[in-house]
Amino acid sequence: MNATAAIVNEVGGDYEFEDLKLADLGHDEVLVRIVASGICHSDESIRTGTVPVPTPAVLGHEGSGIIEQVGGAVKGFEVGDHVVLAYTYCGMCANCRSGQPSSCVKYNELNMSGRREDGSAMFTKSDGTPVSSLSLQGSFSTRSVVPVNNLTKVDKDIDLRLLGPLGCGFLTGSGAVIHGLRPETGSSVAVFGTGAVGLAAMMAAVIEGCSTIIAVDIHDSRLELAAELGATHTINSRTESLDERIDELTGGAGVDYAVDTTGVPAVMKSALNVVATGGSFAPVSASGKPLEFVPVSDLIFPKRNIIGVFMGNSVPQIAITQLIRHYREGRFPIDRLVRFFDFGNISQAVESSLSGEVVKPILVMDPSYRPA
Ligand SMILES: [Zn+2]
Ligand SMILES: [Zn+2]
Repeated sequence: MNATAAIVNEVGGDYEFEDLKLADLGHDEVLVRIVASGICHSDESIRTGTVPVPTPAVLGHEGSGIIEQVGGAVKGFEVGDHVVLAYTYCGMCANCRSGQPSSCVKYNELNMSGRREDGSAMFTKSDGTPVSSLSLQGSFSTRSVVPVNNLTKVDKDIDLRLLGPLGCGFLTGSGAVIHGLRPETGSSVAVFGTGAVGLAAMMAAVIEGCSTIIAVDIHDSRLELAAELGATHTINSRTESLDERIDELTGGAGVDYAVDTTGVPAVMKSALNVVATGGSFAPVSASGKPLEFVPVSDLIFPKRNIIGVFMGNSVPQIAITQLIRHYREGRFPIDRLVRFFDFGNISQAVESSLSGEVVKPILVMDPSYRPA
């Protein structure tokens, strides 16, 4: 079986379209015809080498598609099923078994090596060169061989093209609030950065019943969108004093919870410093930059908590299903955050995300797909 993929041949290289051979299905794998795939900032971090994945590589880890073949030991999935693809995990370690697959002890090996556990590759060039598959998903491709642990089955009556980002960006943002911070009904939350992850965190704060939801960004257009999606207050931290506005909105107490999606050290520091006594802060951008809270008494006396939360601390098969329910009921309107691009326009789609013009670009690999 063959596929057409957008390949990164070397670190920093542009996406290049090539026909690849797909591996034979393992017993616990499926062949997926990719219908669409979101583009995440992590794909760009990998393309430019900030996060290492061996090249040549097929990136893409927000895919959605339709199953074309199932391996011999696969249970619960059949040909024709619509699926969302997320990260992969071993399913056997203590963390996986206790419901924390994003903390799988083999997470890096399975998701970032580009290879199966036995060292074989899902994609091969015509000259025999093995090609990495990000998160064993490699969704920047018309087809992919994917382990069953990556899959969440979804209803066929929803536009499948919309759903891929539920496997990473929207999962990360919503889960940071729902499973990471776990805010009480009526509490206050500030979300720093209103990209796909930040807006998902904010919509989750609405779902969780937070009463003061503050969106912080430096772009007024994004803040307007945040307000339409449920932010009760917005702060442009370039033109307004963050500390003064937070004091005003919380009676001087600070916010119960803060989420940073920017990964910018100065922003993370100010986010932590507006958290109330006993409150919690979750930085979710894996920017690799330092989180500074000197003097340490800024952390100790107010008894602030810093929470590490990865992939929304979510079990994808449970969280994606719940998010789709929220979407159906109008509480998680991801359709307002996306723009579709033809697969061939991948570079333009990436650019639209980096410039901030589009919140979540989605590549359409299968132009013949029509929602039911
Ligand atoms: Zn991602
Ligand atoms: Zn595991």
